[in-house]
Amino acid sequence: MKKTDLKKYARLIARKGANVQPGQQVVVAAAVTDADFVHMVVDECYKAGASTVSVEWGDDALTLLDYKYADVKDLQEFPRWLQEKWKYRAKKLPARIYIDSSDPDALAAIDQNKQMAVRKVISPKVWKYRKPMEGHYQWTIVAMPSEAWAKKLFPEDTGKQAVEKLWQAIMTTTRLHGDPVKNWEEHSANLAAKCAILNGMNIKTLTYHNSKGTDFTVGLMPQAVFAAGAEDTFEGITFQPNMPTEECFTSPDKRTANGTVMASLPLSLMGKVVSDFGFTFKDGKVVDVIARNEEEKKMLSDLVNMDEGASYLGEVALVPFDSPINQTGLLFYNTLFDENAVCHLAIGMGFTDVIPGYEKMTEEERKALPLNDSVVHTDFMIGTADLSIVAETESGKTVQIFKDGTWAI
Ligand code: ZN
Repeated sequence: MKKTDLKKYARLIARKGANVQPGQQVVVAAAVTDADFVHMVVDECYKAGASTVSVEWGDDALTLLDYKYADVKDLQEFPRWLQEKWKYRAKKLPARIYIDSSDPDALAAIDQNKQMAVRKVISPKVWKYRKPMEGHYQWTIVAMPSEAWAKKLFPEDTGKQAVEKLWQAIMTTTRLHGDPVKNWEEHSANLAAKCAILNGMNIKTLTYHNSKGTDFTVGLMPQAVFAAGAEDTFEGITFQPNMPTEECFTSPDKRTANGTVMASLPLSLMGKVVSDFGFTFKDGKVVDVIARNEEEKKMLSDLVNMDEGASYLGEVALVPFDSPINQTGLLFYNTLFDENAVCHLAIGMGFTDVIPGYEKMTEEERKALPLNDSVVHTDFMIGTADLSIVAETESGKTVQIFKDGTWAI
């Protein structure tokens, strides 16, 4: 990893990812193993005008130790100083940068029930402070290669070689070549233009076909829009929540999925890789799970039975088959990358931020929306080189929006 490239990446994260504003505080969450890079990011945040930058160090090994030794009731504590920290943040609205280098298998040994019991108590307590902050601060999730993660992708290589290969893949997919800030301005504008076309069509349904066996229709909500990469705070500051990003996405009308959709890439599920699977939907709900063996069928069935919403769709995303991520030919075992490879769907929770004005709606209006809700949100890839997607508009017109796996509009 060349220092000059790392510096470019750090600058991109501060300027485009978090878009740090003059006088704004910044909080960076990262692992100690990434200390050198974190120092560069902090440097760039200050250069962008940050008032103070604080780093919250943590890693999977610490999380594992907590869950190995500490009692549930001790982990469920939300002490006064933490409450004060969140209160302070809700007032100061720091930009947040998450640097993810975690080993996809690191938490496989964690006691799931214990973790669930802790989350159940802690999440609502934190949410009380976080909720009023939502939409008022910039945040970004970015990746850094760690040896454990890299070895998962390149098990044949030495640790050092594997890290270098993963870094090259991160550089390509986050468009670090040349002038990355300029690259992201162009990329963002292209994605926004696609969303504008889609949103101008008043799409009622999308129908998918390919030779893998996908024959599937899903309806969209008239209230929802397609969104892409960049987001704006309510104050109008643009930021990039995910780097990389390639998708134009929305949440569908959860009652309307019908037909069969086949996955086109493997899915990493609880530390295992599931391939060649599919789902059949009827009036929005999964009624059949297609899998290559009983074990994988059970894993997928457990997933869609997690709660009521887990068997309905929460996301429809359009990504061309020739995306930079798919061109690497890698499975990253990390959603940030894998969900941006090709067209995908997600079962589970839908997104409230694709509904303009959602924050001003009454509780009743929100409940009336056919927007899915669930504790899970699991993306699975369905895009292939021969995927066709035809949109039917509210006025009854049909428009081919994807042909041979890529944009036709
Ligand atoms: Zn997505």
